[in-house]
Amino acid sequence: MTALVTENLVKRFGGVQATDNVSLTVEDGQLHAIIGPNGAGKSTLIGQIAGEIAPDSGHVALLGKDVTTLSVFARANLGLARTYQITQLAKEFTALDNVLMATNARASHNFSFWKNAHDDSDAVSHSLAALAKVGLLDAKNRTVAELAHGEQRQLEIAMALATGPKVLLLDEPLAGMSQGESAAMIALLKSLKGRYPILLVEHDMDAVFSLADRISVLVYGRIIASGTPEEIRNNVEVRAAYLGEEATA
Ligand code: ADP
Ligand code: MG
Repeated sequence: MTALVTENLVKRFGGVQATDNVSLTVEDGQLHAIIGPNGAGKSTLIGQIAGEIAPDSGHVALLGKDVTTLSVFARANLGLARTYQITQLAKEFTALDNVLMATNARASHNFSFWKNAHDDSDAVSHSLAALAKVGLLDAKNRTVAELAHGEQRQLEIAMALATGPKVLLLDEPLAGMSQGESAAMIALLKSLKGRYPILLVEHDMDAVFSLADRISVLVYGRIIASGTPEEIRNNVEVRAAYLGEEATA
């Protein structure tokens, strides 16, 4: 089944056309990357898919179901999980605490959230498993404030995984990372690829071209091209509008 479909999504902020009839498909098991310059509308698109930003027009379908009018919470319950361009972690809490919050936010969970989350051994073991998937098991008792930036971004992925997602939306998971941190995150994304359908917004071209099954290029809110990495690399309009900037940088 198709994981995610957007159909003609439109969002205007005053005079700015943030998304302009964006139609794209994320097939089951595929990693579909969105690239485009700053201000192209990538985060707005993710917000519209997640339900945080109501589109002026257009539709979103998740796993074959039209979710356009559903709340963020309802979409999350259907299996949509996202991470943010700017981290949204509870800084004074430990890595494990943060994942426990995500674990307990699952609608379908069997974990009782009225007792101290740490006393719920199922929730704890589920959360530890999510930390292990992102390589942060040893950091479980460190507060977020004590984690390096790259570890914080990995923790966000652990939180998304703890919700038992069916589709992942990742907004610039490599933003602000050192080279070593990027390499670790790319390895993590490779491990998730194929196991979850992923819509990835990312600036790092090397990462995008090595990870994506499909790439769509967003410029001024419009998808100007969509195809395989090879097709995008050779697309004249894309090179002129976007990759050309990189080549001359
Ligand atoms: P990207 O993630 O590709 O950098 P954004 O989706 O954040 O782009 O922004 C697209 C455009 O919409 C930009 O011109 C931005 O300034 C504008 N924009 C985004 N969010 C808002 C908002 N809440 N209010 C007004 N303008 C916004
Ligand atoms: Mg953005």
